Amino acid sequence: MAKNTKNFSVSEFACHCGCGKNIIDQRVINMAQTIREAIGVPVHVNSGCRCDKRNKAVGGVDGSFHTKGLAADLSCSLGAKALFLVVANLKAKGKLPDLDYAIWYGKKDFVHIDCGKSRNNLFEAKP
Ligand SMILES: [Zn+2]
Ligand SMILES: [Zn+2]
Repeated sequence: MAKNTKNFSVSEFACHCGCGKNIIDQRVINMAQTIREAIGVPVHVNSGCRCDKRNKAVGGVDGSFHTKGLAADLSCSLGAKALFLVVANLKAKGKLPDLDYAIWYGKKDFVHIDCGKSRNNLFEAKP
């Protein structure tokens, strides 16, 4: 079971359908905490861990890292673009060693981060 951090409780990362599934990986919470401290405003967990049913309902890809507890979608009052820039900056400084992928969804105004597996395209933007 993962542990709370200064600004996040593990329960914030539980499946939002109410099924109780929560296998969120500690690395995801720790990354959210690092981002929260860097950006200086509250960071909201739009989506953390998901059961398969929830994942389908929100249009997640089959076997999404959310279903494995390895991903989170984050947003904040400064907007997702600001959040994305902070994530990129932290990664460049070596402060998010576990981050394997981040994507900014401009229209939905959130940033997905995960530690699923390393990819060639670490950062993607969909304005
Ligand atoms: Zn669920
Ligand atoms: Zn996501």
